[in-house]
Amino acid sequence: MYILAIRSFQASAYKFIVERYMNNHAIYLERCLALAQLAASEGENRVGSVVVLDGEIIGEGYEKSRTLNDVTRHAEVVAILDAITKKGNCRGATLYSNMEPCLLCSYVIRHYQISTVVLSKYCGQLGGTNPQFNLLTTNEITTWIKAPAVIIES
Ligand SMILES: [Zn+2]
Repeated sequence: MYILAIRSFQASAYKFIVERYMNNHAIYLERCLALAQLAASEGENRVGSVVVLDGEIIGEGYEKSRTLNDVTRHAEVVAILDAITKKGNCRGATLYSNMEPCLLCSYVIRHYQISTVVLSKYCGQLGGTNPQFNLLTTNEITTWIKAPAVIIES
């Protein structure tokens, strides 16, 4: 009886955590989509990104490569630099993007030790999870910490 009560409590706690976790993903991905819409309205690729730490958005950005004539200003990089400016680092944070981070963004994500990446759409050959060039997910670069968890939310 005691064990059943514990299992019941664990199941409800698990359900609460899963629901809350999933709702948070949806909330942050919605913010990415709003930022992506801003990018599109400025003639950019439709990509937006936020960096979240302890439930707080500490950085956000959207595609600015064409506007700034700077190929490095992808949404994820802009969001990470915003977080760095505000908080000093992104270690252990979660990055959300409506698009899979590309190789350029993957390098920046790994450099700043972001621990989780949530995306809603793969970007193809230049994506950081592409098995041929998996810069986002590889653990073979020994000077980097463990690769971030990658979560796909559609
Ligand atoms: Zn990128």
